Amino acid sequence: MSEARVIAVANQKGGVGKTTTAINLAAALAELGHSVVIVDLDPQGNASTGLGIPVEKRDLSSFDLLVGEQTLQECAQATEVKNLSLVPSTSDLASADIELAGRSARAQLLRQKLHGTHDADFILIDCPPALGLLTLNAMVAAHSILVPLQAEFYALEGLSQLLMTVREVRQTANPELRIEGVVLTMADNRNNLSQQVEADARGTLSDLVFKTVIPRNVRLSEAPSHAMPVLHYDTQSKGSGAYRSLAREFLSRQLATV
Ligand code: ADP
Ligand code: MG
Repeated sequence: MSEARVIAVANQKGGVGKTTTAINLAAALAELGHSVVIVDLDPQGNASTGLGIPVEKRDLSSFDLLVGEQTLQECAQATEVKNLSLVPSTSDLASADIELAGRSARAQLLRQKLHGTHDADFILIDCPPALGLLTLNAMVAAHSILVPLQAEFYALEGLSQLLMTVREVRQTANPELRIEGVVLTMADNRNNLSQQVEADARGTLSDLVFKTVIPRNVRLSEAPSHAMPVLHYDTQSKGSGAYRSLAREFLSRQLATV
């Protein structure tokens, strides 16, 4: 097995589809036989809940991975989904900024645990909705970042701030950091604004934008309350099809860059 590829799913805006994309892209990759670990780096723990790991089963968490001695293998636990494991989040992540304030190399902590590991094919980091120390740790640890972009008016403004942070990380701790791609989420074909945002994004970012667009699909929003990816909750839904297609496109891009 070769070195795990680490991908940070990031956007400082909340509610744009980061967690939905992390869970369902991971499930689609797992379905194709790849081993995947999700690191839930959001104190809200939506990825952990959405994959059916209740709070009382989060003995070792991404907080331990970040600040403790524990390894990825120790912190990751199996989920109901074959080939997919998870490092759950706990609410003490919310105080990581304060906890780590005095540490040197505090943005390197996650990299030290994830870089060069052979424990999976892919590691997807589900980032919190902020550009703070947690997201910074994810960007320093990652080979690339994947940006879900909700098809709405201010979407592109937020993106320039995110890309500025990527540039800063490249200049300092992680020169190799790539943009994996931007994926349009919650798109609505019948909505002019949605189409306009897609056209603007493709005009500005061209090939960085995945051809696959994730439509607004109620099954995607229902799946987390059943504690499973949409691919398992409703395998024939439009949402399932979209994330399967995203996984295939994602993999074909990996081949192209080798
Ligand atoms: P983030 O992690 O960026 O905060 P989420 O993935 O949690 O965003 O998505 C925000 C909300 O939108 C959630 O309730 C989620 O279920 C819902 N949602 C995400 N993507 C879709 C989609 N394509 N169609 C319908 N609802 C979606
Ligand atoms: Mg989230």
